[in-house]
Amino acid sequence: MNTHRKLIVFIGPPGAGKGTLSQFFVERLQCNQLSTGNLLRRHIQESTDLGKSIDLALKSGKLVSDDHVIAMVVDWLDNHTRDGRPVILDGFPRTRAQAKALDEALTELTAALFEVTVVLMELSDEEAAGRILTRLVCSKASCQAVYSTADFKTSRETVPVCLRCDAALSRRSDDIPEALVSRFSIYRQHEKEIMEYYRTSQAPIITIAMNKDPETLFVEVQKRLAEI
Ligand code: ADP
Repeated sequence: MNTHRKLIVFIGPPGAGKGTLSQFFVERLQCNQLSTGNLLRRHIQESTDLGKSIDLALKSGKLVSDDHVIAMVVDWLDNHTRDGRPVILDGFPRTRAQAKALDEALTELTAALFEVTVVLMELSDEEAAGRILTRLVCSKASCQAVYSTADFKTSRETVPVCLRCDAALSRRSDDIPEALVSRFSIYRQHEKEIMEYYRTSQAPIITIAMNKDPETLFVEVQKRLAEI
């Protein structure tokens, strides 16, 4: 008999807290997580062919082409859906074409039947911008843990380091006001069509107001997922 396994899609504006919440799911519930943003940045740091072709898009806050992202995600799914763990997708799908491609890929993966649940994260652009402009990330491509400048009371000369791997923390190159305008407007443009897609396909949708601390949010999302 086929058992259904959970694939949870995090949809929300930049700065909503997708990555932070994902870290909780990975560490406490042993989920497999894909952040397409992290994986794309890793390609850039490692100067792969894909990395070279997408550098400008990321810096300016534009989306990477559906073809590139879908191929990368299908490859990841093929390698991370065989161990029985729930899967979290953070930052994918971001367009209707990606949502459709995800469903097609899941149908073709024979190992398990996945039940897609959508967690729609709500936060105003003002609040999100405030978080993004004080965000620090670990500069090590395989880590990319997220912090806020408020977490560190260091003097200006000291570079804060990652509490997990000791690498230096830095600002993301797209966490600047110029790129933010484009990131918010692109997100709002696509949010409607993705949600329309999932409403039509009758996937369970959980809507969460993200203006709370991460621990509270983790408990709330977990509870809401269990109720489905
Ligand atoms: P945020 O949610 O804060 O915008 P991410 O790390 O999820 O940050 O994404 C950073 C950038 O990576 C995006 O602005 C975009 O250029 C690219 N990206 C990430 N996921 C996708 C995707 N699914 N489709 C297209 N581009 C993507």
